[in-house]
Amino acid sequence: MQSTTIDRKKDAGIDKAFPLFDKLQSHEHEQVVICSEPDIGLKAIIAIHDTTLGPALGGVRMWPYNNEQEAIRDVLRLSRGMTYKASISGLNLGGGKAVIIGDSRKDKSEPLFRAFGRYVESLGGRYITAEDVGIDVQNMEWVRSETKYVSGLPKAIGGGGDPSPVTAFGVYMGMKACAKKAYGSDSLEGKRIAVQGAGHVSSHLVRSLSEEGAELYICDIYEDKVNALAREVSAEVVDPDDIYGLDVDIFSPCALGGVVNDDTIPHMKCDIIAGAANNVLDEEERHGQMLLDHNILYAPDYVINAGGLINVASELEGYNEQRAHDQAAKIYDTILDILNYSEDNNTPTFRASNILAEERIEKVGKIHQVYTSDSSFSGRIGELYSNNI
Ligand code: NAD
Repeated sequence: MQSTTIDRKKDAGIDKAFPLFDKLQSHEHEQVVICSEPDIGLKAIIAIHDTTLGPALGGVRMWPYNNEQEAIRDVLRLSRGMTYKASISGLNLGGGKAVIIGDSRKDKSEPLFRAFGRYVESLGGRYITAEDVGIDVQNMEWVRSETKYVSGLPKAIGGGGDPSPVTAFGVYMGMKACAKKAYGSDSLEGKRIAVQGAGHVSSHLVRSLSEEGAELYICDIYEDKVNALAREVSAEVVDPDDIYGLDVDIFSPCALGGVVNDDTIPHMKCDIIAGAANNVLDEEERHGQMLLDHNILYAPDYVINAGGLINVASELEGYNEQRAHDQAAKIYDTILDILNYSEDNNTPTFRASNILAEERIEKVGKIHQVYTSDSSFSGRIGELYSNNI
């Protein structure tokens, strides 16, 4: 096992071509662990962004990154997003994420995931892993054979199972909150809604929207998937390239990130953007401001899609489906608070959300640490969690 831990407090020389320490310091990441097992092909990076509220929980993604810098950028951005997502959702968790560099269709093996599990275990509960893009339940079971710091397990072994239904429910509630703000009523009946992607989350989402009487337009890059879903919910199938410019009330991005950008915003005719995809804004500051200028209400991605994290987090206390569902329902109020703050302060919704998330972390971080005989790395609330799992 070869491990390199980069500690933000020990600044070394900075590589001008890829200023890693600059990147860590600009978003105040606590720790980045490079995991390498050359004999079995493991190249992974674990990023712990902030553990003020508790242990860093976030999925591991397997992706064939073009280069290491791309992987580092991704894991730094995703782990930071998890800190904000946990905070704004009222969870006592910090933000972390991991990436495995590789092709999930051909590079998976039991030794690879067991080796990754050992790195997770070596962090002693500072990071708890779960499923993300390219990872399935079988892979997590391999990880679990090396560490107890795993969540997102199948229901059959006490886990919360597929989080997509809870994510979709949270998106649905967040969308209703946006409608309340924009139209004065949270009913989605008769609303024209364009949904991008016919995957796990969007399938559940469009069923709820269809039941409420929304007029649906859906797209996917795979025709068979989108056609099957469209038949089930009576939606109109549109070309993936046309989804941004449709004359609709609500656009719901439920595929990939970066879809709200310089090219797409000028075509948009919607009043609201509310979907499950992570990192929807290509550039947070620039495109968040552009949406405000275009009078488009944007439900911040990490807030509205927090149902998945809520579901996974609920496993740490013994999974309770109803409790996870009830917590996800609160996304309605959280989104409304953010939209009101944004309006009162004439600031983009992503910034309003960041401010509220940071406020909670800052306040909890100020709680005095008191010594007890079993105080460990940080004392505070995180300790309660690491003892529970
Ligand atoms: P998924 O892979 O099941 O579905 C995504 C769908 O989008 C696929 O059918 C894919 O073919 C389609 N797609 C990809 N590119 C597209 C394009 N350009 N145009 C149209 N369709 C396209 O994934 P999912 O689990 O449903 O997650 C969807 C999004 O929500 C992802 O961004 C994910 O990170 C985010 N998210 C998911 C969860 C969860 O619980 N699954 C939780 C939080 C966030």
